[in-house]
Amino acid sequence: MATATKTPAKWETLPAKQQPTYEDEAEVRAVTDELKSLPGLVDPNDTDRLLAKLAKVAEGKGFILQAGNCAEEFGTPIAKLTNLIKIILQMTMVLLWGGGMEIVKLVRGAGQYAKPRSADTDKSGRKSYRGDMVNGLEETDEARRHDPQRLLTAYRESRATWAEIRRLTTGGMADLRWIHNWNLEFVANTRQGRLYEKVAGIIDQAISFMEACGVDVRGMSATQVAEVFTSHEALVLAYEGALLRNGYDSSAHYLWIGERTRQLDHAHVEFFRHVRNPVGIKVGPGTTPEEIRAYCRLLNPHNIPGKLVFVSRMGATNIDRVLPELMRAAAETGCPVIWQCDPMHGNTIESVSGFKTRRIKSIKREIKGFFRACAITGTHPGGVHLELTGDDVTECLGGHQDIQDADLHREYTTACDPRLNAGQSLQIAFYVAKLLRQHRQNLTLAA
Ligand code: PEP
Ligand code: MN
Repeated sequence: MATATKTPAKWETLPAKQQPTYEDEAEVRAVTDELKSLPGLVDPNDTDRLLAKLAKVAEGKGFILQAGNCAEEFGTPIAKLTNLIKIILQMTMVLLWGGGMEIVKLVRGAGQYAKPRSADTDKSGRKSYRGDMVNGLEETDEARRHDPQRLLTAYRESRATWAEIRRLTTGGMADLRWIHNWNLEFVANTRQGRLYEKVAGIIDQAISFMEACGVDVRGMSATQVAEVFTSHEALVLAYEGALLRNGYDSSAHYLWIGERTRQLDHAHVEFFRHVRNPVGIKVGPGTTPEEIRAYCRLLNPHNIPGKLVFVSRMGATNIDRVLPELMRAAAETGCPVIWQCDPMHGNTIESVSGFKTRRIKSIKREIKGFFRACAITGTHPGGVHLELTGDDVTECLGGHQDIQDADLHREYTTACDPRLNAGQSLQIAFYVAKLLRQHRQNLTLAA
C-alpha cells in the first residue's frame, strides 16, 4: 500500500546544526517510524505540573536545581544512578534550608545522550564522540560511525532510567527521615559532609516537631520534597520529532536548546515554537539583547510564566559585562522568563596535564556574578544548572579535597565534560544557599 507523503513541518525544512550524518536514509526512516509508534516517555500531566512549578519560580517563589552528567551513558549501573539521586536530594535539603523556598529538581538524565561538539574530529582524527544516542565513546572507527539504531536504544535506556529514578524518589529512600543516609560514605567525614549532617539534624528536629503537631510529614515528603523531573538537551531533531505526542515533546519533561543550536532562523528554535513543554535556551557571552527579545517573542508569545528559561553560561570573566544588559532586555519585553545560572560551560579550560577541567573558584565566581546581576537588575535568581555526579571523581580543580592538576588522572571518568564530585557538589550547594539567603534578606531590607 502506498503511504501518503506527509507535508513536512516547517522545522524539518530549516537548517539544523550539530545533527548526526547517517549513511542510510531508509534506515533512519524505519527507526523514526518505529519511535513514532511507541508510547511517549513521560506523562504530559507531569509536564504540566512542572510548568506550574516553574510558573512559581518565574514569580520569584521557587528555585531550580538542575543537575547530572554532561553525557549520560547507556547501561549506567544502578549504584551510580542511586548516588546521583542521593546527591541531588542532599543538595535539595541544603537549598531548602538556606533558600527557604520550593526547590524544583530537574535531573540531567533519562535522555541526556546527545552532545554538540566544537570539532567534527578528535585528536586521533576519528569522528568526535557525539553522545551514546549518536555513536560510541570507544576509539575505533566502527564505534564512531553514526548509527541510527542508537536512537531506539536511547528511547529504551531513557525509559528504564526514568522508571528507576521514579522508584528511587518515591520509595523508602526518599523518606525525609532518611536524610542522614543520603550522606555518601566518602563525603561523610569531610567538612562538607559534617556541615550537611548539621543541616540534616535541624531538619530532623523540624520533622519531629511537625509530627508532634500531628502533621503527616512522611506522606508529604516522598511526593513533594523528592519529586524530580527529567531534562536533556534537545539536540537530535529526528529523535525529538519522532517523540512528539499531542503537542508535547514526550522525550522529557523539560528540554533545552544548546548554545550552538540557538540560531533564530534555524530548526531548533522553530521546533520549540510548537511544543508545550517548558524550554530552556543556553545563552553565552555572544548573545545580544535583540536575540533575547526575539526568543521571548518566538518561544513565549502568550507570556506563560515558567515556559521559557534563559540559562546564562557566560564564564566568570564575562558575566558582569554581559548579563545585566540581557536581563534588562528580557524584563522590558514583559515576558515572565526565568533566569538560571550554568556556571560550568563558560569556565572550561585545558589543564597542563591535558585534561578538560574547570576550577571550583571560577564556578563560584560565576555564581556570585549571577546573583550580582540579579540584584542590580531586580531579577529573581531562578536556579542553577550543574554538571555533577554522586561519585568520588577527580575532574574539577580545587574544592574540599583541593584537587590539583596532577590529581586529575586518578578518577577522570566523564564521557564528556568535567563534573563536580559529590563533595564539591555539596560545597556548591552551601555556597548557592548562602547567596540565595542573602539575596532574600536584601529584598526584605529594601521593601
Ligand atoms: C551542555 O550543557 O553540556 C552543553 C553542551 O552546554 P552549552 O550548550 O551551554 O555549551
Ligand atoms: Mn557539558
